[in-house]
Amino acid sequence: MGERVFIAIGSNLGDREANCRSAIEHLKGDPRVRVIKESAFYETEPWGKTEQPAFINAAVEIETDLAPKELLALLKNIEDRVGRKARERWGPREIDLDIIFYGDRVIKEEGLTIPHPEAHNRRFVIEPIAEMAPEFIHPVLEEKLYDILIRLHNRPVRNERKE
Ligand code: ADP
Ligand code: MG
Repeated sequence: MGERVFIAIGSNLGDREANCRSAIEHLKGDPRVRVIKESAFYETEPWGKTEQPAFINAAVEIETDLAPKELLALLKNIEDRVGRKARERWGPREIDLDIIFYGDRVIKEEGLTIPHPEAHNRRFVIEPIAEMAPEFIHPVLEEKLYDILIRLHNRPVRNERKE
C-alpha cells in the first residue's frame, strides 16, 4: 500500500502529550492510513518565536494511497478535531501536523511544499524521523537522515543563546 510518508507532530499548548497521542490515534483510526512506526516524544525549546512554551515533538511513519493534497486535508481535519485554535504563524499551537517527506517526491505547490523546506535545519523535525528511519535519503539533499542529524548535533548553540 502506497508511499512511505513521514509526518511531524508538535504541540506546545494544553496537554501537549495528550494532543500528540490524540493526533496519532486519529491517524490510526483512518482506514486510508497505515501507521507503521511511531517515534519517541521529545521535549524541545521553541524555535522562531522563542517566547512561548516548550514543545513536545514526535513523528510517525505511515503508508497511504492518499495523494499529498488529500493527506494535507486529512491532517488539517485532524488538527481541528484535536482542537487546534491558535492561528498565529509560528506561535503556540495545540497541535501541528506537517508532511515532511512523501516517498522521494519533491512537490512545490501553492500551500504544499515537500520535503518541508526547513526540515533539515531543525533537529526537532529530523531527530524523531531519523530515529525511525536513519537510512532514509532526503530526496533533495540526497543525504541520509542519520548524516543530517549528525550535522545538526555538531552545530554551535549560538542560535539558542540569549544575551
Ligand atoms: P507551520 O508552517 O508553522 O506548520 P501552519 O501549520 O499554520 O504553520 O501551516 C501553514 C500552511 O502551511 C498550511 O496551511 C499548509 O497549506 C502549508 N504547508 C506547506 N507545506 C506543508 C507541508 N509539507 N505540511 C503541512 N503543511 C504545509
Ligand atoms: Mg503546520
